[in-house]
Amino acid sequence: MGSDVLAALTAIVGEQRVLTGDAVAAVEFPWGTHAECSARAIVEPETIDEVAAILRCCNEARQTVVPFGGLTNLVQGCATSPDDIVLSLKRLNRIESVDASAGVLTAEAGVTLQQAQDAAASAGLFFPVDIGARNNCQLGGLVANNAGGNKVIRYGMTRDTVLGLEAVLADGTVISSLNRFIKNNSGFDLKHMFIGSEGVLGVITRLVFRLRATATSHNVALVACEDFDAVVATLEIANKTLSSTLSAFEVMWNSFYELAVEPQGRLVAPLEPGATLYVLIETMGSDQQQDMQAFEALLEDLMERGLLVDGVLAKSEKEREQIWQIRDEVEPVIGGSHNFDVSLRSADIGDYVSQVETTIGEILPEANVIAFGHLGDNNVHVSVGGVEWNAASIRSVEQAVYGCLEPFAGAISAEHGIGLEKRQYLPISRTDAEIELMRSLKRMLDPNNILNPGKVVDAAE
Ligand SMILES: Cc1cc2nc3c(=O)[nH]c(=O)nc-3n(C[C@H](O)[C@H](O)[C@H](O)COP(=O)(O)OP(=O)(O)OC[C@H]3O[C@@H](n4cnc5c(N)ncnc54)[C@H](O)[C@@H]3O)c2cc1C
Repeated sequence: MGSDVLAALTAIVGEQRVLTGDAVAAVEFPWGTHAECSARAIVEPETIDEVAAILRCCNEARQTVVPFGGLTNLVQGCATSPDDIVLSLKRLNRIESVDASAGVLTAEAGVTLQQAQDAAASAGLFFPVDIGARNNCQLGGLVANNAGGNKVIRYGMTRDTVLGLEAVLADGTVISSLNRFIKNNSGFDLKHMFIGSEGVLGVITRLVFRLRATATSHNVALVACEDFDAVVATLEIANKTLSSTLSAFEVMWNSFYELAVEPQGRLVAPLEPGATLYVLIETMGSDQQQDMQAFEALLEDLMERGLLVDGVLAKSEKEREQIWQIRDEVEPVIGGSHNFDVSLRSADIGDYVSQVETTIGEILPEANVIAFGHLGDNNVHVSVGGVEWNAASIRSVEQAVYGCLEPFAGAISAEHGIGLEKRQYLPISRTDAEIELMRSLKRMLDPNNILNPGKVVDAAE
């Protein structure tokens, strides 16, 4: 069967776009997100018709298919087995249009986030999703994961920015739901079924995004706090004072900050390391002078209240970038670590992180626990490193991180998704009825279980 499928796929896309053998093993995962790629072949369609023909062919042959975007997901969402076919979206990389007057960008799934941001900027508009992996991650992957990122507090998750999409079902049916309007209540809004479905319900091929006005003022501050209560109070006051201009509120424990600015010395340290916590606060508005004054007044107020031990407001675009780099360049933190991404009440995050540190310290004293994240969106990332990883150490760390989460009724994935890595823990965050409905949807749309099998839910259970 295997060679028949390969011959059929070659007939669809041509020999040059069916990669096998060493070309499969040579796939590189940015940031080491996955260990290796092992698959029967990687197929690289260039058109939607080719995607549909590939899926039709694989469905008929009961051939499993793993969609590959930019490969930056952190949950083993692109894990493959030697029997899989990889469907790479990288050649579906056309920006079809930017309609500046409607504020709408239409693009194929393989366009990178950076390319979409640049295209929006060229039209004088703003693409409202931003994550550190912007150069690698693709729009299709971003939507398949419903990524969050750095601007959620202001513009919402990726879902909130998608107006329409096109997806190809497992049997090759093309569902073109390329809505371009902010309002469209004509029956079920089918795009939501595919947003955040991690490649298990269909392959996303085209997307329509809502762009926003480009902010004409931009301010970034880095502040230091002695305890988590001060950070929470700072968030509450910033939310009230800065109101709709607040666009990011990112927290970094000192362990994160130190690793980013020392000892590599790669990054400028606007504040000395050593405080308990650091927070990046950003506003985007429409009047630089007025917004800067409001920001300065806020920082003075926070200082007077004793909430900050230190703080600096960037005075130029270069300084703003330098502060963002500290938060964005997570490679020294996440590389070789086991990374978690949980959601809970912002005010509980300090206690939660302390409990995780204590619990992991008891079972694996050699472990480093590093925390950082999008505090303004109830989201903290916990990276556990310094451990020799094997099945037992992975399991005990996962149990510690998720065990500490349960009393807080938190979510096991704030934004990274479930993939293969978190599937067994899904019942912590979803009821049996919810999981069964997810399985029913999967069975209905992909009855032969060919699409990214085993990710999110096990349809065979
Ligand atoms: C440095 C770094 C920073 C990050 N920061 C953030 C962050 O702030 N917020 C956040 O949410 N995530 C973040 N991530 C995680 C990751 O970047 C996002 O989840 C991103 O959306 C994945 O996009 P991708 O194109 O790389 O998708 P992939 O990793 O290639 O795929 C993700 C999943 O979607 C499926 N898939 C891919 N393309 C398609 C398609 N066209 N149709 C259907 N299914 C598809 C895959 O099979 C897989 O299950 C970060 C990752 C790194 C490495």
